[in-house]
Amino acid sequence: MQTEPLSPLLLSLQDVTKAFDGNPVLRHLNLDVHAGEFLTLLGPSGCGKTTTLRLIAGLEMPDEGQILLDGKDMASFPPEKRPLNTVFQSYALFPHMNVAQNIAYGLRLRRTPSHQIREKVKQALALVQLEGYEKRMPRQLSGGQRQRVAIARAVVLEPRLLLLDEPLGALDLQLRRQMQLELKNLQRSLGIAFIYVTHDQEEALNMSDRIVIMNQGKICQMGTPEEIYEHPVSIFSAQFIGQTNLLPGVVSARLPDNKVSIEMNGLDIPAVAYHALPEIGDKVCLSIRMERILYSTTPPAGFHLSATVKEKQFSGGSQRTTLALADGHELVSSLPTHDGVKVHVGDQVHLWWGLRHGAIVPQEDAQ
Ligand code: ATP
Repeated sequence: MQTEPLSPLLLSLQDVTKAFDGNPVLRHLNLDVHAGEFLTLLGPSGCGKTTTLRLIAGLEMPDEGQILLDGKDMASFPPEKRPLNTVFQSYALFPHMNVAQNIAYGLRLRRTPSHQIREKVKQALALVQLEGYEKRMPRQLSGGQRQRVAIARAVVLEPRLLLLDEPLGALDLQLRRQMQLELKNLQRSLGIAFIYVTHDQEEALNMSDRIVIMNQGKICQMGTPEEIYEHPVSIFSAQFIGQTNLLPGVVSARLPDNKVSIEMNGLDIPAVAYHALPEIGDKVCLSIRMERILYSTTPPAGFHLSATVKEKQFSGGSQRTTLALADGHELVSSLPTHDGVKVHVGDQVHLWWGLRHGAIVPQEDAQ
């Protein structure tokens, strides 16, 4: 897959380790963040996302390893001297200050002249679409508006890097979706690098240039949303982003062009290795997304598996079909309704998928 060239390196975490009370929370983390990119840390609760942000912000210090910003070790820079800002889930606005005063707070600390403050506050409010709200108090704002003020307050200081810790976590689903779009547009127009923490995979897929999947203090996979979705490196990655079918088998042959043959119940199924080429005898799974599993009542050319239609679920735009293989394994196919072949429960069908849509992952997940 062709990936776009990355912009210059901004931040680099090198072999960073952190433990609390002897419990390791981050284990040898290596992570590069490039200027102007939207990078998301995604992972289950407790995997170390917030700790990573706090280390970058200077609110915690690493036990080992280095954090470099523009090539400079940040160890001796206190939080306020780092060219970055943080937005938290709890908006943390000053309740006794109005919107304009909240946004101006950091500028005042920097002793920015008053006329410049007025201008910058105005620009920041326009960016987050809150023109005319200068005099409102935080209690007179909705949750979404408060979060916009928190973002305006952070970007008005023109940081090189903005750290966002589940900033939309407290909003309802509809507002969350709207704010996702707004935040992404804002990030593009500002050109500031964002490091965004979430455990919501849809949010990560929608907004990010790159996603970092974390588990138990380690990075499992880094890549564009498409790379991670289409080419997971592990069962954990495959299941954490999107829904998938996992078919276990054993590598039976190595073929030209990075292909292998995988033996599954007496059938040899070809697959393309996007990551490292597995060895003959390796126990692997093929991870195939639901929308990639195609079927028909007549056998197609190339490989195909026979299956019985076990269940059908119509959900408006798509048709979800559960297909049982001869050995009892079940796969789920989800296809646009108009593309679906008309089948009934109990029908025998032949199923297949495009070779590059079967991602090879190790059966034993080291993560
Ligand atoms: P969530 O999605 O739930 O916010 P997270 O991935 O952001 O989780 P962290 O907040 O980084 O996870 O926490 C990672 C682990 O470190 C957790 O087990 C947490 O209990 C522990 N931890 C975090 N901060 C401290 C602290 N100051 N003292 C002791 N343990 C801590």
